[in-house]
Amino acid sequence: MARTFAILPVVHISNGPLLRVTLRITVSILAIALPPILISSGQMLAPSALREIPIVPQQPDAPISTYPPPAQQRAGLNIVVLDPAHGGTDPGARGAQGIRESDLVLDLTLQVRRALEAQGFQVLQTRSGNENPSFDDRSTLANAQRGAVFITLHISSTGLPGTARVYTMPDSTALMATGGILSWEHAQAPYVSLSRKFADAVQGQLAQRFKGSPNNSQTATIRQLRTTAAPAIAVEICSVSVQDRADLDRMMPSVGDAIARGVAAFRPSYVLPGETSLRP
Ligand SMILES: [Zn+2]
Repeated sequence: MARTFAILPVVHISNGPLLRVTLRITVSILAIALPPILISSGQMLAPSALREIPIVPQQPDAPISTYPPPAQQRAGLNIVVLDPAHGGTDPGARGAQGIRESDLVLDLTLQVRRALEAQGFQVLQTRSGNENPSFDDRSTLANAQRGAVFITLHISSTGLPGTARVYTMPDSTALMATGGILSWEHAQAPYVSLSRKFADAVQGQLAQRFKGSPNNSQTATIRQLRTTAAPAIAVEICSVSVQDRADLDRMMPSVGDAIARGVAAFRPSYVLPGETSLRP
């Protein structure tokens, strides 16, 4: 007799409806040889059948990035996805003179991009104008790449002006699901320790340039990082509360330089979960 078993549902909650992607395996069972009591719905049946499934979480309704073509990428860390946070109807933090975080982070992104490209990294941006892609769309851009890190850029509303902080997601107990399938909602979990290492490399560079900044990165629950399947950090500079935005503008080239050097310093540590070595 043939039985169909539903196993390992991969659940993705996006802006749209709840989607359930369920892998179904049809198994022919001789009732005598393999009594039904040994196998029941929801149990993992065939681990070997699951090895083909990539651990990159799939977002079925997201646009798929086709650039750059995977075949042309070298092994290791090559791509930096920069995420100017907020945008569109979400201005982020607002400060004196009506300055808006969503605008400032675009200028900051430009400076970071220049510094990274000078170091030979390829840079992709989640937005380059005043639009507001969803959290999932921003993560998708990074998740579709091979050899990428992800940096979301913010200007804080408070904090000591002229300082900068780097954050990563806290350790997650919700690690990879069995069978190599990774839930979209916990995409960051396998990368947390790499993200921490990456964050400390960048924070160390920022601390050298901006007095009063911490020496080590911190953890915080950041929605944008949670669904990103790559080493991922949030960089936040202080703050929109400065009286003159020129104070922030002056920081930006140095922030860019610090981030680019931090990425370069982190590069040798970039060995992704499940891979032995990606160094060229
Ligand atoms: Zn922000």
